[in-house]
Amino acid sequence: MLYKVFLIKYAEIGIKGKNRYIFENALCDQIKISLSRVEGEFQIRKEMGRIYVEALSDYDYDDVIDALQHVFGIVAICPVKIVDSTEWETVVVETIKYVEEVYDKQNFTFKVAAKRANKSYPKTSPEICMELGGALLDSFPELKVDIHQPEVMITVEIRKQTNIYSVVIPGLGGLPVGTGGKAMVLLSGGIDSPVSSYMIAKRGVKVDAVYFHAPPYTSERAKQKVIDLATQVSKYTGEIQLHVVNFTDIQMYIYDQCPHDQLTIIMKRYMVRVAEALAEKNGCLGLVTGESIGQVASQTMQSMAVIEEAGNMPIYRPVIAFDKQDIVNIAEKIGTYEISIQPYEDCCTTFVAKHPVTKPTLSSIQKSETHLVKKIDEMFARALDTVETIVIRPE
Ligand code: ATP
Ligand code: MG
Repeated sequence: MLYKVFLIKYAEIGIKGKNRYIFENALCDQIKISLSRVEGEFQIRKEMGRIYVEALSDYDYDDVIDALQHVFGIVAICPVKIVDSTEWETVVVETIKYVEEVYDKQNFTFKVAAKRANKSYPKTSPEICMELGGALLDSFPELKVDIHQPEVMITVEIRKQTNIYSVVIPGLGGLPVGTGGKAMVLLSGGIDSPVSSYMIAKRGVKVDAVYFHAPPYTSERAKQKVIDLATQVSKYTGEIQLHVVNFTDIQMYIYDQCPHDQLTIIMKRYMVRVAEALAEKNGCLGLVTGESIGQVASQTMQSMAVIEEAGNMPIYRPVIAFDKQDIVNIAEKIGTYEISIQPYEDCCTTFVAKHPVTKPTLSSIQKSETHLVKKIDEMFARALDTVETIVIRPE
């Protein structure tokens, strides 16, 4: 059967009153954006605490499900048969037809779940379940009722119309992008920061991104890798403004003026400062990184405290307590892993010291940074002036 309508289920906890309205509108917007990449014409409707996606033309079922499975805030997608009547005889006939059309073999255990929006309907919910269950057993002798663990739950909702569905496709969960403000992700070509982008967006946060590029030490191919990663992430987050900062001068200056075992820490402090300037300019409320405690020297608690001190904004680190394998698992699921493991170095790997400090003190780092006073302000301003902003859209 080709469904014309999909019922979109979302978690309603904590979204009462005005918040609910904002949540539903944001969800409708995100569904619309995601479906705009699918061939066909669709209408998105809000109706009595429900969201329906209706196909107004031919469409590819798998493409539509795939698009909806990239939208945060959707808990489940139910292809639904809508019957424009609530008249009892019709409901019975159409439910039988539904089971015939949707299942090749009618030999499973089932249960009918009934919901009435209209409490003046002449039958109660238990009566609807009993009578429909009986009618289905009469029509399909191999069906069996199992009210505790049915293989198929056939839901019949009596509203202005009748909704019949039994197929429940899981969604991503989370909150619709745009309901939680905006953040600036420090996006490298690695495995971790794309996963962090995905995770923060899952909580409704819209993301912008900044990439620190150090030509000629980092290649154009490394930059392209970050663009490819952002493009993959944008399938979930929607459009991303990717700010590419030319970091070469700052990096070389630090390299020339500061102790090499402190390079990574000082460089990261400048990344935070530049990212924060861009975040403020673009209405972001915080920074996001892919840091995870203990992964490398610059990700000890001591190092992160010193890095964080360089800025004023909150720094969110969604994968802070994740093992590498857990991060890899998510990267594989969201399609960034294959891109991340391409062997193009970013600026951190190029300039990394043999024995970086793992327990830097703020005073020693600040002392080293005084060696930069002569030129750093000018370089900082130039880095901001020459930012290249690329608008990333899902392909
Ligand atoms: P990732 O896998 O995200 O690259 P990583 O484990 O390689 O992380 P580091 O290289 O120490 O860790 O970087 C830590 C975090 O700093 C990254 O997750 C990212 O948020 C940010 N970062 C590092 N290099 C860059 C860069 N060139 N541009 C933007 N952000 C960067
Ligand atoms: Mg990295």
